[in-house]
Amino acid sequence: MNATAVKTSEWVKNRIKQDQIDRYLKPGQKDFIDDDLIWKQLEGAKKTDPARIREIIKKSRSIETLSPEETAALLYVRDPQLIAEMEEAAIAIKKEVYDNRIVTFAPLYLSSKCVNSCKYCSFRLENGEMERRLVTMEELDREIETLAGEIGHKRLIVAYGEHPDSDADYIVDTVKRIYQCRFKTRKGEGQIRRVNINAAPMSIEDLTKLKNVGIGTYQVFQETYHKETYSKVHPANTLKGNYNWRLYSMHRAYDAGIDDFGIGALFGLYDWRFEVMGLIHHTHELERTFGVGPHTISFPRLEPAHNAPLATESKYLVDDESFKHAVLCLRLAVPYTGMILTARENAELRRRIIPMGITQTDASSRIGLGAYSKETKGQVEERQQFVLGDTRSLDEVVRELAQMGFITSFCTAGYRCGRTGEKIMEMLKCGREGDLCKLNAIITYREWLDDFSSEETRAVAEPLILKEIEEVKERNPGAMKMLKNYYEQTCRGARDLYF
Ligand code: SAM
Ligand code: SF4
Repeated sequence: MNATAVKTSEWVKNRIKQDQIDRYLKPGQKDFIDDDLIWKQLEGAKKTDPARIREIIKKSRSIETLSPEETAALLYVRDPQLIAEMEEAAIAIKKEVYDNRIVTFAPLYLSSKCVNSCKYCSFRLENGEMERRLVTMEELDREIETLAGEIGHKRLIVAYGEHPDSDADYIVDTVKRIYQCRFKTRKGEGQIRRVNINAAPMSIEDLTKLKNVGIGTYQVFQETYHKETYSKVHPANTLKGNYNWRLYSMHRAYDAGIDDFGIGALFGLYDWRFEVMGLIHHTHELERTFGVGPHTISFPRLEPAHNAPLATESKYLVDDESFKHAVLCLRLAVPYTGMILTARENAELRRRIIPMGITQTDASSRIGLGAYSKETKGQVEERQQFVLGDTRSLDEVVRELAQMGFITSFCTAGYRCGRTGEKIMEMLKCGREGDLCKLNAIITYREWLDDFSSEETRAVAEPLILKEIEEVKERNPGAMKMLKNYYEQTCRGARDLYF
């Protein structure tokens, strides 16, 4: 073994802190995902009568988290009338908790080096055809210049492979660098104001470093909650092969002071109903243990990935209708949570699913390293983790959302004002967060329209912004003076004003 290989193998050896798993395990050492129990709950829900389904929908409409049994019952609904009622409820819940706002962000990949071998991912160690490198700090500046100075993003989800070269210290350095970048725009200044992270599970000590640099949401997807499948797709001799190290990522994050976390499952590795149940059990565990549920739930679906045949050959690939039903059930089961639909999905499906309670979506997405600032046209399969289904520009997506009646929010105020964790959960459940978010959505929409929008998009967006202001006048007249003040300042070029 050469010196680098020795260093990497030492790093891998010391990564998992068993005591930072054990401290969360229940007496008798069982984790909170019980396969037999999930199957029993699913089996018992197959023939739920329509009256009971309607009671469950009603409970969800009162913004209460559903139990696993109730969620299981929804997962088997096939009657078109009941599905229509579920969709109606999903739309109403979204409206009540998040109004007509859709938050937007961009993914940013900073490293393709990885010590793991996940069978569905082209970054896996065995893929000798992948270009392995880290984005340099100078390259990072150029990426942010495109994202924040030309496209107009304010929020990122930054993704890292698991490797000693992209460890917590590299994450800290890159996050700091991103927050420092500022670029002149048509009327003001462009900057990234919220950096969310999607990275491997870490120790409490490493997570504390991320907390201190001011990350937004910390995301780790369990991929599959089904243990046997988990061990098949994540080889045992790799870091990711440790199911419980991953399962308790959010517990450690909470103990490191990060109370804004996102969970997810990669749909297509195992039975989709089982994965929804896994996400619900995870949500209950977090609510029970910390009084805080997930800030967001993600449901990436397997996409083709270079040299990763499982991504296209898995026998559990999820068809569009089942996927849509899974999203609908998640919306009803955890009514307060943010729901992220990514550009993995194609434009047509996004159009159909977004109205059913999605709160966040990405746009103008590129997932190759350095891909925003490079002139490369299209996607380069051999250089990215998987292939995206929708690469439309942010301008096009904002326009389409406006045509559908949604205002795109670039708001990042919540976490900067300390509205995270328990505080935000309470506000979301009683609809108070919505009042502030509406004001912030209007201000940030104004900023983006003035700095980045095409004429065509502006033509659709201007009437929408006026309608939003009218709604504030009606529903929250006390806030009008403040809104008017910030709005006028923003029109004159002031930036980053928030409530
Ligand atoms: N390396 C980190 C980890 O594994 O936690 C970050 C992973 S990556 C940036 C984010 C997510 O992409 C993964 O957690 C996985 O759910 C998803 N992903 C990986 N391969 C995929 C594929 N072929 N299609 C769709 N999503 C994929
Ligand atoms: Fe590495 Fe993450 Fe890809 Fe697995 S999913 S190979 S851990 S980058």
